[in-house]
This record gives sequence, C-alpha cells and structure tokens, in this order.
Amino acid sequence: MRSWATRALTVYGDAPARPEELVDLHKRVTFASAKLETSQRPPRPRPAHSPTATVVEIESLTCESCGRTFERPRQRGRKPKHGPDCA
Ligand SMILES: [Zn+2]
Repeated sequence: MRSWATRALTVYGDAPARPEELVDLHKRVTFASAKLETSQRPPRPRPAHSPTATVVEIESLTCESCGRTFERPRQRGRKPKHGPDCA
C-alpha cells in the first residue's frame, strides 16, 4: 500500500509534471501511513452480549430452585435467581 506511493514520489520528486499532483501524492502517503498504524494496533475486544460493555466477565450464580451453579456474563442490574434450566 505504502510502497507504490513512495515509489511514485521518488519518480516524480525531482521534476513534478504538475505540483498539485505531487501534493496529492504526499496526502496519499500520509494516509497510507496512518492506515498502516491503525492496522497494526491489536483488535479491540468485542463483547458478545452487551455492546456497551468493554470487558465481559463471567460470573457463577447458583440457581435457587435446583441449587445448580450456572455461569453467565456479568451484567448490570438484578442477577437471575434461576438458571437456564429452571427459567
Ligand atoms: Zn435450576
């Protein structure tokens, strides 16, 4: 991505046919560099259940009906009293 733009700059750098073309190339190199840096960043964790939460934490809960423990992603608000089997 970056290489072609840099190469074009080298070719036209000494005697640009049109100055505005050179400016445009400079912009493209900057854009390519910025894009490169963005792609090198580690991907942000994507929560599966809540789009607003940044970290999904799994909590263990005990069902009041059968006493079995079950796991669910931690959420705001009230915790469920019953597991998925008894809900
Ligand atoms: Zn249960």
